[in-house]
Amino acid sequence: MACDRCKNQAAYTRKYSGEKLCSQCFSKSIVKKTAKTISKYKMIKHNELVAVAVSGGKDSLALLKVIHEMSLTHNFKIKVITIDEGIPGYRNEALEIVKKVCLELNVEYKIYSYKDLFDLTLDEALDLRENEKTSSCSMCGTFRRRAMDYAAKDIGADVIATGHNLDDTLQTFVINMLSGDTTKVGWMNPDTAVNSLRKIKPFCEIYESEIVFYAFTNDIPFQSEPCPHMNEGIRTDIREFLNLLESQRSGIKNNLYQSIIKVSEVMKNSNSNTKEKTNCEKCGSECTGNVCSVCILVSKLKSNQT
Ligand code: SF4
Ligand code: ZN
Repeated sequence: MACDRCKNQAAYTRKYSGEKLCSQCFSKSIVKKTAKTISKYKMIKHNELVAVAVSGGKDSLALLKVIHEMSLTHNFKIKVITIDEGIPGYRNEALEIVKKVCLELNVEYKIYSYKDLFDLTLDEALDLRENEKTSSCSMCGTFRRRAMDYAAKDIGADVIATGHNLDDTLQTFVINMLSGDTTKVGWMNPDTAVNSLRKIKPFCEIYESEIVFYAFTNDIPFQSEPCPHMNEGIRTDIREFLNLLESQRSGIKNNLYQSIIKVSEVMKNSNSNTKEKTNCEKCGSECTGNVCSVCILVSKLKSNQT
């Protein structure tokens, strides 16, 4: 089987398009597609500093490789930020990989832990929950978003880049719809040019399976241990459901993605997303009430400690 682009031995077949590619042409296509997404949504501007959020998983390490390659020929700089949630036995392997890759690429990196920022590790916070209605991942996500904002500001970044891929976007959309949270759908639009500290997802138009192959074919080392909380939420079920649909009807994920872009565009411009922004009385972060949701969560957990 020959590569459709260069006639070398093909190593990957894109089921949804029928295209067959060798490893090199496949990798080039990933870099090109990422560059196209970045330029389509004006994700990075001249002279900006991009904080690449690297967890040590395949998506974020693949993003680091691609975006580092682009930074060598484009007018922007990158630094790596890594968030340590404080999950015993899980994050340590990842932190070692992140350090190694950053040293090899000669990219500056800094680690920020929940413990330092909130005086609680994730596991301590989970133990202090009143009940398990708040899932591990939703609590972790609340802390992570704040930790990444803090980290990006701390290193003087203009933009935070995360390794979220197309599958992540679809899963988040379905989760938001199933929980009746249509406001969050508006936040999913990749066109984020209006915010001050922009959050970008340069892989948002690439299938997870392609990122996996990119990491594999480029010998990117990534964390083998999954988070022990990974299967507690509904995300894994939705992920499996969407994978099943895609295996039976190639391209269905692309179709859903296109619908999400259209729906999120409408939601973004609707009134439900124009709540007035204020600053949290406790930490100064932007929020919509007097005290931000993170400060409320932390003080609630702390009150359970005593
Ligand atoms: Fe946090 Fe959930 Fe990810 Fe584990 S799987 S790191 S708990 S968001
Ligand atoms: Zn606050």
